Order: sequence, then C-alpha cells, then structure tokens
Amino acid sequence: MALAQAAAEEARAAGEVPVGAVLVRGDEVIAKGFNHPIGAHDPSAHAEMIALRAAAQAVENYRLPGCELYVTLEPCLMCAGAIMHARIARVVFGARDPKTGACGSVVDAFANPQLNHHTTVTGGVLETECGAALKSFFAERRRASREARAAARGEAHAVASGEAHPGAHVEVRTETHTTARSEAHAEVHLGAGIEAHAEARNEPGPAEPL
Ligand SMILES: [Zn+2]
Repeated sequence: MALAQAAAEEARAAGEVPVGAVLVRGDEVIAKGFNHPIGAHDPSAHAEMIALRAAAQAVENYRLPGCELYVTLEPCLMCAGAIMHARIARVVFGARDPKTGACGSVVDAFANPQLNHHTTVTGGVLETECGAALKSFFAERRRASREARAAARGEAHAVASGEAHPGAHVEVRTETHTTARSEAHAEVHLGAGIEAHAEARNEPGPAEPL
C-alpha cells in the first residue's frame, strides 16, 4: 500500500486527485498507476485502470490471475468491472468512497457470485492515511480557489485581513457564501475529501465549480 500511496502523490504532483494503485504478483511489482483523467482527457484513466493496462501489457495477457491490486481508494464500478475481467485474485483498498465506491460503500459488485467468483476484497487498509491524502488535496484546492476568486475581485487584502477589519468581515462572509455549495457539500460527508474526490473524478477540470 505504501507504493500505491507513492503513486497517489504522483497524481497530486500532476494536479490530479491523488489516487494510486499497484499491481503485484507474489513479491513482484508488475505495474503501477495513478489517477489522471483530466490530463489524459480520459474518463477511464483511474489509477486501477492504468495499473491493469500496464500489467496486462507487461505479462502479455489480458487475464491477470494470481495478482493482487492495491489501491488507495475504494474502486468504482468501472474499475470493479475491469478487475473482474482481469480475474484479479485480490483487491486491497484504503479509503472508502461513499459516493462511487463499488466494494460495499454504494454497491458491492464483488459480493454478487453471478458477477464475480475470482476476486476477494479487503478494505480500509491504511484508511486514515489514504483518506488524509485526499482531504489535504481538496482542502488545498478550496484554499487556492478562494484566493483566486478574491484576487480576481481585487479583494485579496480584505480576505486576508479577516475580521480585524469591519469592512473585510462582510467580504469574508460573502466569500463563504459563494463557496458554500462545494465546501459544505464536501464536508457533510466523511470529512471533505472523499465526496469531493468522487465529484472530481466524474466532473473533472474546468467544468467544476471549484
Ligand atoms: Zn475507478
């Protein structure tokens, strides 16, 4: 999982939601992947998909029996489907995703024996650490978004001064309202990060309100 966490940081460095995956067979690391749907202009460019594709190329086989996939966030339905098609033996994931998680959080694709009889799932491994990486990413993005909006309105000083300045206090409140939808939405759920993450993976890039 430490390797998957390192892959997630590669996604962060690229400005993408930090999710990482590693595919292993025994003690051998076959492939890694990090989430980058925005940069790739590819809705399927989740960390798991990247790792699965790279592994299949490496072993020249679209089936990957006996392999284990470690990923920092609970796989979505798309990735769960690909994992089943590849006949991965075991999935180990970190943080749970209450918005799009397909390993029990929203649906449990792997629990259906008609769909799956190859893959076992272990969730919540280093859950706090994996979730913290996502939360910090979205906290930083919200902060940057607030600053950018304030700067665009020429109110950067007012926002920075906060309540020490009577006039600024009004501006801060206004600012809070303008960001209320995304922030409140995110923070209602499981501590900010995961909810916003799900949105970001589905609605990436410039189209986002953030
Ligand atoms: Zn996915």
